[in-house]
Amino acid sequence: MSPEKNSNDILSFEDARHCVEEHAARIKAPTSETVSLLDSAGRVLAEPVAADRDFPPFRRVTRDGYAVRAADLEKLPVRLKVIGEIKAGALVDHLRIGAGQAISIMTGAPAPEGSDAVVMVEYTTVKDGWVEISRIVKVGENIVPAGSEAKQGSLLLSPGMKIDHATIAVAASTGEVQLKVFRRPRVAILATGDEIVDIECTPGASQIRNSNSYSLAAQVQNAGAEAVILPVAPDEPKRLRELIQQGLQEDLLLLSGGVSAGKYDLVEQVLEAFQAGFLLRGVHIQPGKPLVFGKVADKYFFGLPGNPISTMVTFDLFAKPMIEALAGMTRQKLVFLSARLKSEIKTKTGIKRFLPAVLSGEFERAEVELAGWQGSGDTATMARSNCYVIIPPDRETIDAGEWVSLLMR
Ligand code: AMP
Ligand code: MG
Repeated sequence: MSPEKNSNDILSFEDARHCVEEHAARIKAPTSETVSLLDSAGRVLAEPVAADRDFPPFRRVTRDGYAVRAADLEKLPVRLKVIGEIKAGALVDHLRIGAGQAISIMTGAPAPEGSDAVVMVEYTTVKDGWVEISRIVKVGENIVPAGSEAKQGSLLLSPGMKIDHATIAVAASTGEVQLKVFRRPRVAILATGDEIVDIECTPGASQIRNSNSYSLAAQVQNAGAEAVILPVAPDEPKRLRELIQQGLQEDLLLLSGGVSAGKYDLVEQVLEAFQAGFLLRGVHIQPGKPLVFGKVADKYFFGLPGNPISTMVTFDLFAKPMIEALAGMTRQKLVFLSARLKSEIKTKTGIKRFLPAVLSGEFERAEVELAGWQGSGDTATMARSNCYVIIPPDRETIDAGEWVSLLMR
C-alpha cells in the first residue's frame, strides 16, 4: 500500500517549484565537449566567450551620406567641398576632413579622421564636387564609437547560456569556429501501469498505448537532455524495483503513473525500499497533484502522475528546471505572460490550475481561451493548445476580457 498522504505534506505550487529549484542549484556542471559552431545551436555553452577586438572595431557609420564636422553645419544651408568617397571595408588612414570639407560615405564604413558626424544623403544635394546640406547634425550622429558595444577582452557570453541564434551571432563575430558545450545529461523514462502496452502492440480491450514515455522523451530532448526509454513497468513490486534500479543508473529518473492513492500505486513504496528521501509528495495544483520528487543516494527522481496531461504539465513545471541544471544551464525563473481572456471561465476554488489553452489573435490583439479539455487524459486537446492558463485558487469565475496569466509550453 502506498503511504498515507498527509495534507500537511502537500505544498503550494510556488513552494514546490522553489524546492526543486533549490535542489537544482546544487547540481554541479557536467563535463564538456567541443562542437562546430552550427552544431552548438540548442546546446549549453561551457566556456566564456570574450571580445577578441573592440566592437565595433572602428567608428562605424550607420547611414549612407556625408561625413562632416558638425560645427560646419551651424548656419544652413551650407556648401562643403567633397574631397573623396569611402566605401564599407575601405581603409581610411590616408583621409582626413578639414574645415569646410565633406566625404561621401556608406553604411558600415569607418568614419574618417576629423569627422564627427554623418549627414544622411536624403538631406544633401551634390553638384560639381560640392555638397549642399539642408539639416544640422549633432556631434556623434550616425557614427557608433569604436568599442562602444564591447571593449576588447570583455566578457560577451558566459558558461550556462543556452545557445540560440543570437548567441551564435556573438560567437561568429568573435571568430569562434567551435564552441565548448556541456555534455547532454541522460534521463531515464519509466512508464508504469498494468494496462500500459508498447505502441507496437495492438492493445486489448482494456489496455492503453504508452504515450507518456514518448511525450516525456520529446520534452526531455527539448530541455537539452538525452532520453533513455525503459520498458514499461507493471504494477508489481519485483519488476518495478528492477527497472527503477536500472533508471537510477542514469543522471535523472522520470517515472510516470503509480503515484496516486490507489492500492496498486506502488512507485513510492518501491522507492522507499531504495531508502529514497522524499522532497515533495503532492502539490496543490491541478492537473498534477500527486507529483513526487526525491533522491536515492545522489540521484534525483520525479514520480509524475500517469494521466497524460498531468505528466506533461508536471514535467514543464518541475522536471524541466532539474534537467536544465543537469545540462549545465544557469537557473531560469518561471515567467508568466498575460493576455486577455476570450471567453469566461468557471471553476471550483481551492487549487491552482494550469489548464491547456490557445493563445490566438494577431499582432497586439493576443487573446487566450481554454482549449476545452475533457480531463487529464485528453491528449488531442493538449495537442491543439499552445499554452496553459493559470487560474488562482481563489477564483470561481473569470470574465471574458480580464487579464489572465499564462505559461507558453
Ligand atoms: P496512474 O497515475 O497510474 O493512476 O494513471 C492515471 C491514468 O493515466 C490512467 O488512466 C492510466 O491508464 C493513464 N496512464 C498512465 N500511464 C500512462 C502512459 N504511460 N501512457 C498513457 N496513459 C497512461
Ligand atoms: Mg497506474
